Amino acid sequence: MANSAQNKSNYGKGQRTVPARSSAAEGLRELFIDELKDIVYAERALVRSLPKMANNASDPKLKEAINEHLAVTERQVERLQQVFEMLGENGRGKKCEAMEGLIKEGENIMKDTELGPVRDAGIISASQKIEHYEIASYGTLVAFAKILGEEEVASLLEETLAEEKEADVILTDAAYNTINLDAVEGEGTAEGMQEEME
Ligand code: FE
Ligand code: FE
Ligand code: ZN
Ligand code: FE
Repeated sequence: MANSAQNKSNYGKGQRTVPARSSAAEGLRELFIDELKDIVYAERALVRSLPKMANNASDPKLKEAINEHLAVTERQVERLQQVFEMLGENGRGKKCEAMEGLIKEGENIMKDTELGPVRDAGIISASQKIEHYEIASYGTLVAFAKILGEEEVASLLEETLAEEKEADVILTDAAYNTINLDAVEGEGTAEGMQEEME
């Protein structure tokens, strides 16, 4: 595996912050490619899962935000394909257990809640866990790319990182401005809580 990665690599091009031929650089490059395969699997899984979340959202703004992030996510997959090409690697994904789990949790929340503000709150909760996983993943990938001297790849990954952070902010706004308050108001048993909040 180290050999095939090495043969197809761009070693020697661009500036390096670790000696390209060192075993540490080879190991880090292999880890970098593996993590890229993990995140491309995760993004593709999200492309399949986000429409279901949008369909389950009642708040039109939340529905719109999820659909917008679906379009963004499709572009992120294309960007990753570009990254694999730049690195001379195939873009085959590798199962991301974490994203599978996060998506499954989201699906369970949708099953366990009634359509409406409470399910919306659950969708936001699940979505933010997903965005934070992506933020952590891309943050690490940007650092790895820089250490490996892959500056162009680092810039592409930084674009995606910025999009994931933006998605997180939009979800936080949705949570505070509309969804969670509506959820509390919608629950007959939550009147006391409502009073405490005011
Ligand atoms: Fe994603
Ligand atoms: Fe993404
Ligand atoms: Zn993963
Ligand atoms: Fe995202």
